[in-house]
Amino acid sequence: MVFKKILELRKINIAIDGYSGCGKSTLAKALAEKLGYIFIDSGAMFRGITHFCLINGVDVTDKKAIAEVLDSKPELTFKPVSNHLLLNGQDVESHIRNDQKVVSSVSFVASIPEVRTYLKELQQRHISGKGVVMEGRDIGTVIMPGAELKIFITATIEERIHRRLSQLSDQGVTILEEEVRNNLIERDKADAGRDVAPLRKASDAICFDTSNFSKETQLEAILAIARPIIEPDYYLPFIQ
Ligand code: C5P
Repeated sequence: MVFKKILELRKINIAIDGYSGCGKSTLAKALAEKLGYIFIDSGAMFRGITHFCLINGVDVTDKKAIAEVLDSKPELTFKPVSNHLLLNGQDVESHIRNDQKVVSSVSFVASIPEVRTYLKELQQRHISGKGVVMEGRDIGTVIMPGAELKIFITATIEERIHRRLSQLSDQGVTILEEEVRNNLIERDKADAGRDVAPLRKASDAICFDTSNFSKETQLEAILAIARPIIEPDYYLPFIQ
């Protein structure tokens, strides 16, 4: 049998969802780099709104006050290469990752319908041209329901704690294991239990338990899944 190589690649959108601390961002970023796609970390945007509330003295348990702060239309963009979140042009990456007030309040802020509507509009601005890898909780279900590839990431709680602790320790942040465990469990509960756009596996998403995979083998596995979609005719058998 002879194989013919078709060089034309198809540009697609890829949605990656899953529980907190499963390594979605690391995987999505590596995947986007490999494919030359845009990477959008939607969780960073929810963290950015939470930080914006805090620096404006807004009570992050007050739904009405949080919804009102959006009237000033905070601008959320990503810095090229580093992918740091820019809030009204300011790099707020370390605040949104390390400020424990942001970490403990973000899921409540993310449950507010006005916040989700505001960010949905910003997130969907990126997707019309294709070639986007976006990760979050509702990407396959709400933000990019038409994505050509949807992955739902899981990992055991112990593995997720271990990954989050080593990520924080790389950044020089010391934190108790119990605190990380409680935060992951609470955020999952809040994200899966909210009324608007809850964390769900899209019916057409592929479930991927990454517990026993290294970063490198996770990327290899996803590329293997993506390849027939991006290169549908890569090996086209023909009979002479
Ligand atoms: O992904 P990350 O942990 O940075 O997300 C922070 C929080 O933002 C999550 O715990 C969740 O409450 C919220 N989030 C969301 N929908 C998304 C992405 C994140 O509700 N698409």
